[in-house]
Amino acid sequence: MPTTTDTPRFREGAGRLCLDFIRTLRYRGTSSASEELPDGAALATWVRQCGPCAPDDTVAPDPAQAARARELREAVHALVIAAVRTEDPASCGDTALRHLNRAAAAPVPVPALDASGRIRWRADDPVTATLALIARDALDLVTSAAITRVRECADPHCGALFLDGSRPGTRRWCSMGTCGNRAKKTTLRHKTARPVR
Ligand SMILES: [Zn+2]
Repeated sequence: MPTTTDTPRFREGAGRLCLDFIRTLRYRGTSSASEELPDGAALATWVRQCGPCAPDDTVAPDPAQAARARELREAVHALVIAAVRTEDPASCGDTALRHLNRAAAAPVPVPALDASGRIRWRADDPVTATLALIARDALDLVTSAAITRVRECADPHCGALFLDGSRPGTRRWCSMGTCGNRAKKTTLRHKTARPVR
């Protein structure tokens, strides 16, 4: 019987795999920025939660792989920010492009239909393959029309990027449950604090 009681540890729901991945540096750009991928074990846990195929947990995580993953994450962030703010994704710089292109060149997970009719994804190295998937997702995102729907969360303490799937394209917060709710409460506080004439 499985003994794991895994509750999701990492945030998902930004609308693209590459955008969820860059949220592993939480509160980016603020004084409370926090690193959620400090080591290979954390990276393996992220891949297990968010990727299509899980790494073998009997194999010790590789610390160098975590360092490469963080480099890739910063490259993805630089790429998406460049595309959103300047409409020129390549202006993210040569170092970022090198990390992105190198990661994207690795083999990605491959699908196979099992006897029960379900797709199973597999890769010789699930961590590297998932990083390749993230890099390819980022390259696809910044060169497609979807990039016009990528927003920076309106909460200045959040730092998240998300894909705005709303019909009018006016979504402002990465999540209504957290940042949106906080903004609403602040507005309400200001309104109720106003003196009644
Ligand atoms: Zn937010």
